[in-house]
Amino acid sequence: MRKRRIILLGSTGSIGASAMKVAAAIPGRMEIVGMAAHRSAQKLAQAANLFRPEAICLVETTCLAELRSALNYKPKLLTGEEGLVELSTLSSADMVLVAIVGTAGLRPSLAAIGCGKDVAIASKEILVMAGEIVMSQARAKNVSVLPVDSEHNAIFQCLEAKRLAEIQNLILTASGGPFRQLPAERLEQVTKSDALQHPTWKMGRKITIDSATLFNKGLEMIEARWLFDVPMSKVQVVIHPQSIVHSLVEFVDGSILAQLSHSDMCFPIQYAVTWPDRVPTNLKPLHLAAVGKLEFEEPRYDVFPALNLARKAGEAGGLLPAVLNAANEIAVQAFLADRISFPEIWRLVQNAMERHSNLARPNLDDIIGADSEARDFVRNALA
Ligand code: NDP
Repeated sequence: MRKRRIILLGSTGSIGASAMKVAAAIPGRMEIVGMAAHRSAQKLAQAANLFRPEAICLVETTCLAELRSALNYKPKLLTGEEGLVELSTLSSADMVLVAIVGTAGLRPSLAAIGCGKDVAIASKEILVMAGEIVMSQARAKNVSVLPVDSEHNAIFQCLEAKRLAEIQNLILTASGGPFRQLPAERLEQVTKSDALQHPTWKMGRKITIDSATLFNKGLEMIEARWLFDVPMSKVQVVIHPQSIVHSLVEFVDGSILAQLSHSDMCFPIQYAVTWPDRVPTNLKPLHLAAVGKLEFEEPRYDVFPALNLARKAGEAGGLLPAVLNAANEIAVQAFLADRISFPEIWRLVQNAMERHSNLARPNLDDIIGADSEARDFVRNALA
């Protein structure tokens, strides 16, 4: 059984914390040899002092002195976006776990793939923006792209040893978020503290707001399309308030396979790291009788337009998924800064998508250009 030597990007975030929990629990299978964060110098130093990776990157250069003085050993120190790319190509690592919020993980992921490292991807924004490029480079380099997002990890598990032609539908489950049953007209008044109350998962702020609008599920639909190489028409969503069934695959013979566990990101992270092996854990086992009931319902597509917008972007392909993703990111920041109402998030995304002209087979520069234009469009609309 091989030990994975891992670079952890986004180590100070919610996924980063779960990844370190997994590393501490299975030291024989997972060693963190590199760590990165954006600007949380103290938190990064604390984690580094514990795991003692050989290299560390803090993207925000102005916080480097603070990091240096909080470290109790002398790892290689990197900074800036180039530092993140250099860290991701560290020769002693064989896997990069990308858990950066937003799109900053794209270039480091491509760099890691470029030098033959497997990537475990939590940052769905990367595959939404540039799924075709990332997956084709991974195929060319013969490296694995392992899904960490719990839904995709569930589908990955259900699909093992199955053929693409046998898939009828991938069915992503969604908790429905805090406003699952709220009357549509009340959404105008919800506040950010209402939206940050996720019923079943404890996550970073951006993804928590995305779960409330259902843009998170929309991004995951596009992510699934690339990860599993199926058309958007085979990616479905069902609301499952208990978040126990993490996703399902319906096969052509009418059978459905599902993966179940408690909602703890340590499960999918551990499987991505130890794949294709299964390793015992101390995580809370699932007792179905204690759970009692598992419910499923149709999403309210008319109340939460994010799902249809994402389907449209995923079907159109090209630049539109990057536009959707970027516009959403800026709109979520504005909502978190109390500048716009909750439904304004999807109105801004829809406007950005309608205004942007698409391109069939964009290259990476086209995609990055569309990302920044969409950000500017929303910023101007807000101004
Ligand atoms: P958090 O907000 O908790 O953490 C974000 C992490 O990214 C922090 O370590 C942060 O560093 C780092 N970061 C932010 N911007 C940059 C940048 N420009 N360059 C380098 N590092 C940066 O996010 P989550 O852990 O919740 O989510 C991370 C990703 O995983 C997201 O894409 C999310 O959609 C996905 N995901 C998360 C799940 C969850 O349960 N949380 C579940 C499934 C997917 P710093 O602290 O210094 O700012």
